[in-house]
Amino acid sequence: MLNEVYYPHKELFKNPAFKNMCEYHDKVREFEKDYEGTWGKLAREKITWFRLYDKVLDESNAPFYKWFTGGKLNVSYQCIDRHLDKKKNKAAIIWEGDNGEKRVITYLELYKEVNKFANLLKEMGVKKGDRVVIYMPMIPEAAFAMLACARIGAIHSVVFGGFSAEALKDRILDAQAKVVITADGAFRKGKPYMLKPVVDKALEGVDIVEKVIVVERNNEDIEWVEGRDVSYNELIQNQSTECEPEVMDSEDPLFLLYTSGSTGKPKGVQHSQAGYILWAQLTMEWVFDIKDNDTYWCTADIGWITGHTYIVYGPLAAGATTVMFEGVLTYPDSGRAWKMIEDYRINQFYTAPTAIRLLNKIGADEPKKYDLSSLRILGTVGEPIDPAAWKWYYDVVGGGRCSIVDTWWQTETGGHMISPLPAATPIKPASATFPLPGIFAEIIDEEGNRVKPGEKGLLCITKPWPSMIRTIWGDPERFVKSYFSTAKKNGKPVYFSGDGAMYDEDGYIWITGRVDDVINVSGHRLGTAEIEAAIKKHPHVAEVAVVGKPDEITGESIFAYVVLKSTDDLGEEVELIKEINEIISKEIGNIAKVKDIAFVPGLPKTRSGKIMRRILRAIAKGEEIKQDTSTLEDPSVVEAIIAVVNSCE
Ligand code: ATP
Ligand code: MG
Repeated sequence: MLNEVYYPHKELFKNPAFKNMCEYHDKVREFEKDYEGTWGKLAREKITWFRLYDKVLDESNAPFYKWFTGGKLNVSYQCIDRHLDKKKNKAAIIWEGDNGEKRVITYLELYKEVNKFANLLKEMGVKKGDRVVIYMPMIPEAAFAMLACARIGAIHSVVFGGFSAEALKDRILDAQAKVVITADGAFRKGKPYMLKPVVDKALEGVDIVEKVIVVERNNEDIEWVEGRDVSYNELIQNQSTECEPEVMDSEDPLFLLYTSGSTGKPKGVQHSQAGYILWAQLTMEWVFDIKDNDTYWCTADIGWITGHTYIVYGPLAAGATTVMFEGVLTYPDSGRAWKMIEDYRINQFYTAPTAIRLLNKIGADEPKKYDLSSLRILGTVGEPIDPAAWKWYYDVVGGGRCSIVDTWWQTETGGHMISPLPAATPIKPASATFPLPGIFAEIIDEEGNRVKPGEKGLLCITKPWPSMIRTIWGDPERFVKSYFSTAKKNGKPVYFSGDGAMYDEDGYIWITGRVDDVINVSGHRLGTAEIEAAIKKHPHVAEVAVVGKPDEITGESIFAYVVLKSTDDLGEEVELIKEINEIISKEIGNIAKVKDIAFVPGLPKTRSGKIMRRILRAIAKGEEIKQDTSTLEDPSVVEAIIAVVNSCE
């Protein structure tokens, strides 16, 4: 934990939502005094309602909370139509392809494309409430497809384009989808890759899907199932550019999205209309300080919640220009991201620690070769960022000038929950700092008592909030069990995130990782993130994951899986283990020293780049792997790790 404090460079922020911490505390107090009234006021200001809601919050069937009941709206209208008056020629989406190809889509063009797509979906028989699976590369048509579903009231479920046929099939069946939207394929690192054959395989033996809409992207040969497959490029020609937006209830489902599966079988998280879009838009304004002339770039894939809220829905609801990128940040070279920031004069850049570490590793000095002076805000999301990566992001990418917003949130929360406010919050590196106004994120014990500074507790949200998960699709019991059965406050079940955290003396929040990831050594509860951050300080360590292993004497002992930067360092294991433990002793204490270290070729990661520690725990215990590995990036790495661990014993 670093206790350095970085103050915002106020001159970068012309008219921020929160100018200083006094304004932040005032807003928090406003919510404390009148929770529903304050949310209601924001909803009236920010949403273009077809009919105003009757009630802000309905708690009668908790934890199945309802927001803005009786209200009528359409999310595509909120994201597009209402901007046309003033912004029809403004860029809504700037797209860059893998090979550098560019497309700019104005708000008026977006309006027409979305309406045409919506009419096409109707022609395919899609009705309000039907589920549509979107299995697409990062091309503008993916965003059109999402918004077209929203326009006609269909519920989309975007499945990340890197998932296997098996993972796709599971999600199609779970959602009982009627239509799948896909592309022939796309490009990655200069080469074509395919999606349509994966859909064909996923649909073997599946009879619920009536139509597969195929967008041409890479023009490679694909198989065609007569009667089922239709060509987007052909059918879109004849569609009208007008499509009345469906009048939706605030609480109608907007989309389903499956979590990344790092802690168990993915859950079909269900979000609804008004509360979700309100918070998506507000956090763009509060956390990203989005302004009319800004160009904003989030590098996530639309297959993740970050892509939903912070590439498509949030930026468009805010009337902003959002950059969408098909390629990878390291192709054709390690300067790609920085070149794009220079080219488009990006003002806000939002990415994940795994990308930051990679870019640092392959080109620490690369950002210095580009003009990054347009940047005001750098964002990070997805996992705890270690102080070393944070410092590089701040100093080298941000030129020691930009505010870093370390945003803690989840698929289930719909939008940011804990984050610095860029013009107001004094930042401590690698702390997500404070809950956003309106969000009652608290670190408590199971009975609802706030933990003392330095003590670890459960990261809970103790009041319902508008963009919260409504249920797990088709499994309301799992919803209650997963989120509302661990902690209570004033006798009432509260939302538990699954993450552990602690306060420091100044009330800053430090995320320590999943509570499952807490390792209990001789009664000391140690967070995996902390130990990993220490191990990463060793200059030869590229990546690391630690888990607990049952131990007769200490209860649990620490087992570390370490990936070295270069295989040349193998053979020096004994020396390395000693050095790593010296760093741990110094950073955390002797109690956190590792008992076992396996030097492995890679770590099992989900497609969103998160380490699947449940697999590593099983390997450490010597258990057979019987768990769901369908969301792993590279399942073969599991075998390789087992081989290393077996050879150590
Ligand atoms: P599953 O719930 O299926 O295991 P997942 O939790 O990885 O999947 P997401 O909803 O994409 O799926 O990830 C949310 C989690 O990511 C959070 O619960 C937290 O553990 C981690 N996380 C996100 N942002 C941050 C952050 N800024 N700092 C620390 N951890 C973060
Ligand atoms: Mg989760």
